[in-house]
Amino acid sequence: MSDTKLRDLAQDASTRSHSPYSKAKVGSAVVTEDGKIFQGCNIENSSFGGTVCAERVAIWKAVSEGHRKLKKIYVYTDAGWPPCGMCLQVMAEFAGPDLEVTFGDKDGKEKTKKLGELLTHAFTPDHMK
Ligand code: ZN
Repeated sequence: MSDTKLRDLAQDASTRSHSPYSKAKVGSAVVTEDGKIFQGCNIENSSFGGTVCAERVAIWKAVSEGHRKLKKIYVYTDAGWPPCGMCLQVMAEFAGPDLEVTFGDKDGKEKTKKLGELLTHAFTPDHMK
């Protein structure tokens, strides 16, 4: 899985965004440890509280299909936004601090960080033992 293909898949997912309120189209593509890829887009809701980010849609699709270990994730927005804190917390549930998180923009600029850099002191399943 090349990073270019993952970027293309994330950008493709952004075209299916349901974002009539913010107008912000976000797409994500996640690769699981067994090599499966799941795409997600942000899905807004008129209640606002029912809104969900693209990253969480992709992760929930993976988990609901039985793939619980994440290897890398790409987030696409026109402006190259990083994932929000809630999405980082969800990533920490299904990946360790070495998870590769890449966020890219419409011009092809991108940044890759480790989950542990973006979410220091994550609350993880280990805390619940
Ligand atoms: Zn988010």
